[in-house]
Amino acid sequence: MQQKTPWLTSDILNRLNANTCLLLVRSLWEYCPEHMFIVRVEGPGEFVIEAMNSTRQALSAENSAVIGKRIEQSLPPPLCHGVLANLCRCVESGAPVRYEENDDYLDRDGIYQHVHRQTLLVPITNTEGMVTHLFGISRDLAFPPEHHVLSPAVTGELERRVSERTAELVAANEKLAYLATHDHLTGTYNRRYLMELAEQELRRATRYELPLCLLMLDIDHFKTLNDARGHLVGDEALRCVARTILATVRECDLVGRYGGDEFLILMPETTASGAQELAERLRNTLTQTSRLTLSIGIASLAPGDDVVIDLIDRADTLLLQAKRNGRNRIECAA
Ligand code: GH3
Ligand code: MG
Repeated sequence: MQQKTPWLTSDILNRLNANTCLLLVRSLWEYCPEHMFIVRVEGPGEFVIEAMNSTRQALSAENSAVIGKRIEQSLPPPLCHGVLANLCRCVESGAPVRYEENDDYLDRDGIYQHVHRQTLLVPITNTEGMVTHLFGISRDLAFPPEHHVLSPAVTGELERRVSERTAELVAANEKLAYLATHDHLTGTYNRRYLMELAEQELRRATRYELPLCLLMLDIDHFKTLNDARGHLVGDEALRCVARTILATVRECDLVGRYGGDEFLILMPETTASGAQELAERLRNTLTQTSRLTLSIGIASLAPGDDVVIDLIDRADTLLLQAKRNGRNRIECAA
């Protein structure tokens, strides 16, 4: 009959010599699959991690960096408070303490972590009976089932992060949409977006037989201003013209920078005389606020205009005519 291996009773332990004890502790420390650690007691409520066994260290690369650190520096806040309370309890009682942690939290990288483990703390005393160290051994308990309900703290934190990130994305999207549709210098629509909107207006006007006018304007002798006073002054002049246009037009009018010092204004439900009135107002306002003058060509929707470029072509020809006729004037097809 096979002989039964005797259990490691305290009697047997008492008979082991110091060397064997050391070997036993070393083997346990090296090969035991449970997490083991030693914490040094620095003062009331102050603990420094002095050692961890390889099982514990293998858990993450960060663990080796944890040695020599205080508990508060090495554990996330939700776990830290509970562990500290138990370490204090063990020091004060001078007796082994057993506790269970069942907590979840988001780590520094925002990754969800769940801890469920049982720990035994054993006080280690010096010759004067003072607890100088605590030996701990922890065992991971079952991982939470898939339908594990997150704690309110983690849910709240996740919700806060999701809404923060959503707000950031919405703001970034709005900014991108603005940049994609506007001219960066003047804040008016850029040429591509203006053409897109103008095509829609043209289709609407054609379908409902509504008047539609297109006004093309160009700053007179702009190159001279650039050459004489520099491009920054030229840029400010462009912004000044844009501000004046935006302050003069109706809300439904579309304003865009067509190129260099050229702007387009598309005026839905506006006749040629209405467009001329606006052009006059624009010129007058600009002369009151600056020394800039404008040449303007106005085209109105005519039968056979299929695309916006038909209107632009006519307005451009009239604008050229205004330049040839001495600038600072408006030309409008009868
Ligand atoms: P005209 O009276 O015949 O219109 O003469 P002009 O000097 O205004 O000539 P034109 O309209 O052809 O000149 C446009 C100038 O606008 C040329 C270019 O150097 C300048 N320009 C184009 N884009 C910008 C810009 O973003 N900023 C500045 N400062 N100048 C620009
Ligand atoms: Mg010009």
